[in-house]
Amino acid sequence: MKVKSNPAITEQFSIYIHFPFCIKKCNYCDFVSYKFASHDTEQYVHCLTREIELFAEKNFVKGVKIVSIFFGGGTPSLISVKQLTRVFETLNSVFNLSSVKEITLEANPETVNKAKFSEFKKLGINRISMGAQSFNDKTLKILGRVHDSKKIYEAYSILRKVGFFNVNLDLMFSLPEESIEDAISSLKKAIALRPEHISYYSLTIEKGTNFYRNRHNLNLPNQKEEYLQFSKGIKLLESEGYGRYEISNFALNGFESVHNIHYWKNLPYFGFGVSAASFLRRRRSQNYFRISSYCDAVLKQTLPKRSTERLTDLHAKAEHMILGLRMIKGVNKNLYYYRFGTLPDYDFSEKIEFFKKRHLLKENTKYIALTKKGSFIANGIFEEFLP
Ligand code: SF4
Repeated sequence: MKVKSNPAITEQFSIYIHFPFCIKKCNYCDFVSYKFASHDTEQYVHCLTREIELFAEKNFVKGVKIVSIFFGGGTPSLISVKQLTRVFETLNSVFNLSSVKEITLEANPETVNKAKFSEFKKLGINRISMGAQSFNDKTLKILGRVHDSKKIYEAYSILRKVGFFNVNLDLMFSLPEESIEDAISSLKKAIALRPEHISYYSLTIEKGTNFYRNRHNLNLPNQKEEYLQFSKGIKLLESEGYGRYEISNFALNGFESVHNIHYWKNLPYFGFGVSAASFLRRRRSQNYFRISSYCDAVLKQTLPKRSTERLTDLHAKAEHMILGLRMIKGVNKNLYYYRFGTLPDYDFSEKIEFFKKRHLLKENTKYIALTKKGSFIANGIFEEFLP
């Protein structure tokens, strides 16, 4: 039987735009980012806008409904007002943006100033995601952040004055040299500011980072301490009115991120810029990581793809489960059925039963979700869904 797709589900798209420049590389960071001072950002923005236009020339995009735009990085708050204006002009000339609900820009506290952010707001940015990471100055130094805690307060106050009333603060736990009390103390300071959204996530030591090279000298919390930092943090956030809607994401009612939910629902998105990924009709692609390769391709009128793969049925289903289980609500069985024409209970019956018996997954007529216990070992569970 061929299952018709649900138009309400398939016709919504998001846009991700990567701005790959930072003042300085943080010690834990494995994102694609280059030193701001030593690159020609004008040239990059020129290539970025050309990529968007090229994409529209090669695909019919006028009719698609865009629900969210996310400027990530790198540090997109380093972009100039003129450059961001050009990006918006290009997006507007190519896409129908009348249905966009959320436009997020990631910001480093060091880059926030009143004049620039007032203009960002006028351009349509309506959500700021600021990387605070910690309120402990010693820890911020160890992380290699360019700002201190005072700067976080200053930047936050500017955001409010300028009129941003949908702000996320990123905060990390399981950090070097930090006790449970240190982690919770930072979290309390973040909560005291009453941002609408808090991402509270664990540091991971990724290959290729300064932390990875120096991993044997890092004094990291052990597994039990990490668990306590997380579980106590969740309790605290929930008691302060921040609903946990994804493993590491918490929001005041109504401020859950449209863009992130779109991604976890495994809905399609266009990615533009160095290293940006796109996901369209089971086809996943990723742009070149190097600015020179990216710009060369675009200037030769070709899309700057380093890889494109069409997911197999099995892989697409597994990915849908893994992304959906990240949300506390879980995987919507109806959505799964519209997408694949089968139900998750059928495709993953053994795995689902195995985890349900161990109280790591739970299920009702509409959703399959991680239990609270399951959410602490989510990655281990996700691995089991992979083909
Ligand atoms: S500011 Fe963000 S993207 Fe830039 S180096 Fe630090 S963690 Fe990476």
